[in-house]
Amino acid sequence: PERTLVLVKPDGVARGLVGEVISRLEAKGLRLVAAELRTLTRDVAEEHYGEHRERPFFGSLVDFITGGPLLALVVEGPRAVEAFRALAGATDPVTAAPGTIRGDLGLEVQENIVHGSDSPESAAREIGLFFPGLG
Ligand code: ATP
Repeated sequence: PERTLVLVKPDGVARGLVGEVISRLEAKGLRLVAAELRTLTRDVAEEHYGEHRERPFFGSLVDFITGGPLLALVVEGPRAVEAFRALAGATDPVTAAPGTIRGDLGLEVQENIVHGSDSPESAAREIGLFFPGLG
């Protein structure tokens, strides 16, 4: 089955939403493969968000994502990348559909609770970055 990297970002951990996110993805049928609570170094954060390096919000995004512990998960299932993106909802929680994690639980475009890889290729890269031991 396909795998994807999911992050419960520092805002989600601080707000006590870890259980809610895991409940939703498990209820959907996705299966946990790996899980670790950790605080990212700036190096790992800048690598993870490398595609946004030139964006005006890059510095703020790195500050936010390194600002406290996050929960990194590898989950698997049929079309796991697309399945989790659908559960997460649109990037901006204000316009994300109700019923999605962001649509139900958030209001801030940066502090939007979760991350999910956006393609199988990104998933492979991100899983390698966060869990180098996973085959
Ligand atoms: P993610 O990659 O975290 O799953 P995404 O793919 O929905 O999110 P991207 O456009 O790749 O969204 O942006 C990456 C992250 O950068 C967003 O999840 C959000 O935390 C932050 N972000 C995006 N746009 C903005 C913005 N305009 N201002 C501040 N932060 C932003």
